[in-house]
Amino acid sequence: MSAPGLQTCDLIVDNGYLVTMDEERREIAGGAIAVKDRRIAALGPAGAIARSWRAARRIDAGGALVHPGFVESHYHTGLHLVRGVLSDAPDSGASSGPGVFIRWINALRDEDEHAGALAAGLEMLQSGHSAFVEAATAFEPDAVAEAAEALGIRCSVSDCMLWDRDGDPMAVQIERAPCDRARVERMLGEQVRRRPPGHEGLVRAHVALYGIGSGSEEIMRAAKRVADDTGAVFHQHQNFMAGDVAVDRERFGKAPLVRLNEIGVMDANTVFTHMNVMDDEEAEALVGSGAVVVWHPGNVMYYAIHPPGHSRMPALFEAGVPTGFGTDVAKSWIIGDLPFIAYLLTRHGGRYLSPRDLMAICTRGGARAFGALDEIGSLEIGKKADIVVRSDVPASAIPDFDPVYQATMISRSRTVDTVIVDGEIVLRHGRSTRLDEAEVLAAGKVSAKRMAARVGG
Ligand SMILES: [Zn+2]
Repeated sequence: MSAPGLQTCDLIVDNGYLVTMDEERREIAGGAIAVKDRRIAALGPAGAIARSWRAARRIDAGGALVHPGFVESHYHTGLHLVRGVLSDAPDSGASSGPGVFIRWINALRDEDEHAGALAAGLEMLQSGHSAFVEAATAFEPDAVAEAAEALGIRCSVSDCMLWDRDGDPMAVQIERAPCDRARVERMLGEQVRRRPPGHEGLVRAHVALYGIGSGSEEIMRAAKRVADDTGAVFHQHQNFMAGDVAVDRERFGKAPLVRLNEIGVMDANTVFTHMNVMDDEEAEALVGSGAVVVWHPGNVMYYAIHPPGHSRMPALFEAGVPTGFGTDVAKSWIIGDLPFIAYLLTRHGGRYLSPRDLMAICTRGGARAFGALDEIGSLEIGKKADIVVRSDVPASAIPDFDPVYQATMISRSRTVDTVIVDGEIVLRHGRSTRLDEAEVLAAGKVSAKRMAARVGG
């Protein structure tokens, strides 16, 4: 018999070390969360929750870490299966570097985009992600959306590779996405009109241009206007490497970020991805703008983008610039390794980010890049129930004196046990509850083989 005043909910996550990542970064040992109607209805000490709530289902976290779902802020799902298929050895000629990606993109069919998004999405769930931003290179955004919906992971899609300048060499090499103003005018905002922010599904949309020299000021202004009008975020690759910065600097007659700030495309709903190369004036413009940056510490090291110690990201984060992590393409690492790579890169530069800073980048910062910090990115009453429960079983989970340190840098993906997205348990004991994982992985292998044959790998 229910005690008087006992409320019912759908699920209680019990007996966890709650890292809320709310504004005060509150942490509650021996805590519990009540989930009702896909949202967090209550959270607090487990005893208090037990006295007030009765649930249809209960998950015992066994004292392990419970944190908000991570948000992968920039991922090219169509390129997910490329890793290791073609050599990336520096002496492998056309097989190495961005040339590989262009050939791969040109060989993609809808079924490959779907297979890549399924495999990537599964890896994201297994590394504690509850959401990801597709990085504006899906020819068929519905193929990515369907994969995300099947897995139960949140996703934001956008229009594919919009560009009207040949400032980036890639812009004139993608057969299905010609560099063409008329195409931009036809497609810009199509996805965000189909899936506007605030609609209830797992998949939403953002406005995006490819960027890094491939978009005129006119289309950047137009894209930002669509984002402003629809309440979406505007994403663009920006300041990736010295070469694209030089292209932008020449046409603008000044530093790219300074110009973008002047023309009004850099403010609180703007998300610039990569952002590896910038000068002092640009960093200053960025700090005052409210714009979000997506940091790619894996790329920085893989492409040796700047000398050791030159990463501005730790200082920008400390200066209050909202920062998310973007894996871009998980080239020679797995999704979920970025906090660790960022930590080492930061230390290599003579600076320090704490495990909680790294956790904030994975959660709150990612939620800003997703355009939904009001809905996800922290464990707070009223927010969507996107929750990760860790396990303390694997060897890498000990000694666990500081669960946040342990999860962000030591065990990383290995301790992810349960992922709840939108109130639904979509990963339990490390396995998808929705799909046959063997089938997802087999389809991924078949696609990668097919793709390798097409691109001559
Ligand atoms: Zn990218």
